[in-house]
This record gives sequence, structure tokens and C-alpha cells, in this order.
Amino acid sequence: MARYIGPVCRLCRREDMKLFLKGERCYTDKCSYERRAYPPGQHGQSRRWRKSDYGEQLREKQKMKRMYLIGERQFLGYYKKASRMKGVTGDNLMQLLERRLDNVVYRMGFVCDHAEARQLLCHGHFTINGRRVDIPSYLVKEGDVIEVKESSRQMEKIKEALGAVERRGVPDWISLNKENFQGTIKQLPVREDVTASIREHLVIELYSK
Ligand code: SF4
Repeated sequence: MARYIGPVCRLCRREDMKLFLKGERCYTDKCSYERRAYPPGQHGQSRRWRKSDYGEQLREKQKMKRMYLIGERQFLGYYKKASRMKGVTGDNLMQLLERRLDNVVYRMGFVCDHAEARQLLCHGHFTINGRRVDIPSYLVKEGDVIEVKESSRQMEKIKEALGAVERRGVPDWISLNKENFQGTIKQLPVREDVTASIREHLVIELYSK
């Protein structure tokens, strides 16, 4: 999968919203989007966007992919899976993305962004129900208990992230036991649990063509 390795703050400015891709910096006044809330590039400030319907749909898809750090093919896979599930496809899509293990450890506050979540997961620092899981795309289920491995609890990255968890907040569908480095999936997330400004129906329209 081709991975974007350029400056991530450009992505927030391109999508015109904070995607929280740079850990603690995103909550400070150093945030590039706070300082320059216009598209990147030489003509960013002067360019007038004439967005077609297709343009709007495309941008919304890019925004979701970038927020969850997912590549095109994998994202399409989630859409197909969501459309096969019962219920509203857009809601299903959001739920699938939220249930990804890398997103869950981020939401629990064990890491400060998705990239760090993926790195620590791949290095085997987390367990689910007592078993080591190193697959960022693993979909958590109701009742799953996610824990930082005993031997990884002294890692500065994890301690720092947990130290800032109150400021970031933990969603209602998750319960966090900070002292035990443990989080539980109380129930599967629903659309209302995702507070970011995302218009997933545009993505569905794009793929339904
Ligand atoms: Fe986006 Fe964070 Fe950079 Fe701000 S600091 S522009 S929220 S990645």
C-alpha cells in the first residue's frame, strides 16, 4: 500500500479540518491549521474552489481515509463490507472504521495519534483478552478488553499519552481503567459517537455510481 510520507499538517489544511495526526501538537497553538486555515500551496490563499458534486464527494472520501490513515484499496474494502451489512451503509462504514484496533487504542488514550497507534501495535505492545494482537485493522468486538502489555507500561510514549487523556476525552462506548492500562469495549460505536465533521453519505454516493 502506498503510504503518504509528506507533512501531515498539509492534509488538515487541504481537508479544511483538524485531523489530529500529530499528537499533542494538535492541541497547542502550534497547530498549522489553527495558524493557516487555508489550503496548502502557492495559491492556497487566493484560489477559489469551485467544487462540483464529484469534487465534494472525493474530498470527503479523502478526509475519512486520512483521518484513519487508510489506503484506497482498504477503504474500498470497508465500503463493500459496510454495504453488505444490515442498516445504513454510511453508519456501518463509520462503525467499521471506529472499530479498528489502531483507532481503538487511540480513542482509549494509550497513544497520541493513529500513526503511533499503528507503530506500537505492530511492535506487539497490546493484548486483547490476554492475547497479543499486532494487527492494526483488527476489528474489536463488544466486551473486548484491550491492555498495554505489562512489559510495555513504562514506555514514555504511552505514559505521556495517558497523562493527556482527560483533555482529549474517552468516547462513551469505551471504558478506560487508566491505572491498569486497560480499556473495555462497552458497546459497539454508533454514528453519533463520531463527533468529527464527516459527511459519509457523500462517500457512499461516490462509490454507488
Ligand atoms: Fe492537523 Fe495536528 Fe497538524 Fe494541527 S497539528 S494541522 S490538527 S496534524
